[in-house]
Amino acid sequence: MVIKRTQQAKSAVTPQVMKEENTDYEQTLRPQRISEYVGQAKIKGHLLVHIEAARTRSEPLGHTLLHGPPGLGKTTLAHIIAKEMNAQLRITSGPVLEKPGDLASILTNLQQGDVLFIDEVHRMRPIVEEILYGAMEDFALDLMIGKGPTARSMRLQIKPFTLIAATTKSGSMSAPLRDRFLHHFKLGFYEPAEMHQIVERSARILSIDLQSNAAFRIASAARATPRIANRLIRSVRDYAQVQKRASIDLACVDATLTSLEIDHDGLDATDRQILLAIIDNFGGGPVGLTTIAAMLAEEQDTVEDVYEPFLLQQGYLDRTSKGRTVTKRAYEKFGREVPKGAQISLL
Ligand code: ADP
Repeated sequence: MVIKRTQQAKSAVTPQVMKEENTDYEQTLRPQRISEYVGQAKIKGHLLVHIEAARTRSEPLGHTLLHGPPGLGKTTLAHIIAKEMNAQLRITSGPVLEKPGDLASILTNLQQGDVLFIDEVHRMRPIVEEILYGAMEDFALDLMIGKGPTARSMRLQIKPFTLIAATTKSGSMSAPLRDRFLHHFKLGFYEPAEMHQIVERSARILSIDLQSNAAFRIASAARATPRIANRLIRSVRDYAQVQKRASIDLACVDATLTSLEIDHDGLDATDRQILLAIIDNFGGGPVGLTTIAAMLAEEQDTVEDVYEPFLLQQGYLDRTSKGRTVTKRAYEKFGREVPKGAQISLL
């Protein structure tokens, strides 16, 4: 099998996905090779084995599901896998595929060995998703031609490809779709040392003179998330430029974090608002997600996908069958006493 050389996808599918990180800035900072990808050691270990094995057999890697909160490196990993496989990458996302035909036309245009990346796969419509089943399993499309009594089904062969799908909510995916992935990788938040490495790497690439303690402060305020670290670096750089400072020191970072209302634990105004709302209005919880979202005038998905994962991981929030509760750590953060009889974890 001939596997094509990597080429940044410029096909009709790509412009549909105008994600914020697809700017020149993000492109510059995005690791290109697995050796540049910081952290996620287990996933990288598995990938190296499977990529090597697939390359030796000249076969596609096998469909891969990447699961984890936004900004942890799912899209980056898809780019890296395509590059490591010497394959062409095609990019689309669940919500932009409105009709089965949208996906069918992407699939029929794939070349042998291509990698198709579908972001936010859990938001794909069920009638579109059904097209994927045969494509993933048999590299075939089952299409209905015509309507009513004259309708007939037709099976169209497509070229063997690798689907890489990313989701922030694997629980919202249907079982038939989830089960068709050979590899399931769950990306976790980054360790402080890994975040520091990412900050130093980005500063180096952008030729920013970042003092060591300033780099540590950015790393610890970035919610254990590379995308946020990169955004903070950009904000700090702007601040330093306006202040005409050649080198970025701790004072510069602190001033930027204060202006962005990010505290030393990396929590922003909305994080604090969520915790304080549960403490002040609901005696620590439990309280339902709908209520929290309504209080903050935010989408439920945003609260669940963007804010909660970090608060849970940091031990400020608990998810129970009755709803969300804050923890003792949350009370301590705000210097509050845990009320008697509060239904919260005291660990
Ligand atoms: P996701 O698709 O999970 O939302 P992305 O892959 O778009 O996240 O990552 C956002 C940015 O964070 C990337 O452009 C890249 O610069 C940076 N990044 C992500 N993961 C890593 C990593 N493991 N090492 C270094 N930088 C990373």
